[in-house]
Amino acid sequence: MAETRVPSPARPAAAPPSFHLLAKPSGSTCNIDCAYCFFLSKEALYPDDRHRMSEATLETYIRQLLEAHRTPEVTVAWQGGEPTLMKLAFFEKAVALVETYRKPGQRIQQTFQTNGLLLDDAWCAFFKRRGFVVGLSVDGPQALHDAYRRDRRGQGTFDLVMRAQRLLAKHGVEFNILCTVNAANQTRGREVYRFFRDDLAAKWIQFIPIVERATAETLAIANQGWSDKGGGKRLLYTQTGDLVTDRSVGPEAYGRFLIDVFEEWVRRDVGKVFVQLFDVTLEAWFGRHLLCIHAPTCGLGPALEHNGDVYTCDHFVEPGQRLGNIADTPLAKLVASPQMRRFGDAKRDTLTSQCRSCAVRNLCNGGCPKDRFALSKDGEPGHNYLCPGLELFFTHTRTLMAVMGRLYQRGRPPADVMLWVANEDAKRDPRAPCPCGSGRAFEFCHGDKAKAAASA
Ligand code: SF4
Ligand code: SF4
Repeated sequence: MAETRVPSPARPAAAPPSFHLLAKPSGSTCNIDCAYCFFLSKEALYPDDRHRMSEATLETYIRQLLEAHRTPEVTVAWQGGEPTLMKLAFFEKAVALVETYRKPGQRIQQTFQTNGLLLDDAWCAFFKRRGFVVGLSVDGPQALHDAYRRDRRGQGTFDLVMRAQRLLAKHGVEFNILCTVNAANQTRGREVYRFFRDDLAAKWIQFIPIVERATAETLAIANQGWSDKGGGKRLLYTQTGDLVTDRSVGPEAYGRFLIDVFEEWVRRDVGKVFVQLFDVTLEAWFGRHLLCIHAPTCGLGPALEHNGDVYTCDHFVEPGQRLGNIADTPLAKLVASPQMRRFGDAKRDTLTSQCRSCAVRNLCNGGCPKDRFALSKDGEPGHNYLCPGLELFFTHTRTLMAVMGRLYQRGRPPADVMLWVANEDAKRDPRAPCPCGSGRAFEFCHGDKAKAAASA
C-alpha cells in the first residue's frame, strides 16, 4: 500500500452535502468499439498512459469520497470506458477500502456500468456478495443492438451481452438496462421496451439520447466513429459544433420514442417496471429533481479520471473543464470550487427566452447543457437540440403524470393510473388515431395491449 491514512482535510463551508461522482478507473479505454461512443476519443487526453488507476489513487479517492459526504447515503459509481478491464482484484480492494473509510452510519450503494463482455461467474458472484447494482448496456433486440455496438473486428456484441444478462440473472444480481436512443432504434420504442421487459425481465431501464456534436470541418471524420482503428485521423471529442453525426437521434424522434414507450408502460407496467425518466418526471411534479439533466442547476456529477483528475461532468472530460487532481486538492474542495459552481449555475443562467417562458420548464429545465447548440424559435443560440422531443414528451405525459401525482397525494399507488387509462381506452373508438401520435389507428397501435389489459 503506497499511501498512509491522513487526517481529514477541511471541508469547505460551501461544499454540497452529497454528490454523484462517476469514477473511470480504466479511463475511457474499452474492449469494444461502439460507433457512437465519443468517450473512446478521450484516450487522446492522456497519450502514452496505461489508463489504469493506481492503488494509491484508488485509496485517495475512496477516502476523500466518504469524507466529503454529509449524508448517510453515499454512491460509489464505477463507469468507463469499460471498468471490467481493471480486473476483479481491483474492485475487491475498492470494497475493502470502503469498509476501512466508511463513517459510522454511512450506507454505501455501489454501482457498476458495463458492456458485459467480460462478465463471468466470478464477477457476478462478487457483485451479488457485495450488493452491487449493475448497469448493462443494451440497445434493444439483436439487429438494433448490433447496429452500433460492435467489437473492434466489426462483429456485433449482442450474443455476448445476452450471455452476461443470463449470468447476472443466474446469480441474482440486481441489474438495470442502459439503452441509448439513436438513429437505428429511434422509431422502435415499444419494441425495444418490450424486449427489455419480456425477454430480459428488466425492472429498471434508463434511456440515453445519442447526440454526437460536430462542426462542418469534423463531421465527415466524426461519422466514421471515435476509436483509433484504421489508423486514420482521430478527433478528440469536445462539446462543440452545431451539427450532429448520422448516428444521433433526431430531436423530435427522441420525444416520439419516449412517448411510444410511455403509452405501453402506462397501460401495463406502472409500479412493476421503472423507467428512469418517467420516475424523475413524476418526482419533478413535487419539486424534487433526481436527475441532473432536468434539474434547474447541475454541478453535482463530477467525473474522476484514472489518474485522479476531476472534471465537471462525465460529458465534459475535456480541456478547460478539469477542476484539479485529488492528489493535490481534496475532492470536497474541487466539488465546491467556484469553477464547479459556475458550471452548475450556468445551466439555469443561460436558458433561452423560449425555455424561460416554456409551459413545461419546471419539468425540463432546458435539458443538459451539452445538447444546447441549436437555435430557439426566436433564433436565439444555445437552445437544446432535443427541445422538440422534450417538449413533446413532457406535454404529452402531463395529464397522466398529474393523475399519478394526485393518486400519490391521496395515499393511493400511482399504479392505479392504469385503471384510469383502461377506463378512457374503453370509451375510445378503436379506429380513431392512437393517442401516442403515431397516426395509426388505436386498435393497431397501443390499443392492442390496452384491450388485453382491460379484459384480464
Ligand atoms: S452537464 Fe448535463 S450530464 Fe453533466 S451534470 Fe450537467 S445536466 Fe448532468
Ligand atoms: S421543452 Fe424546450 S423550451 Fe421547454 S424547457 Fe425544455 S428545452 Fe426549453
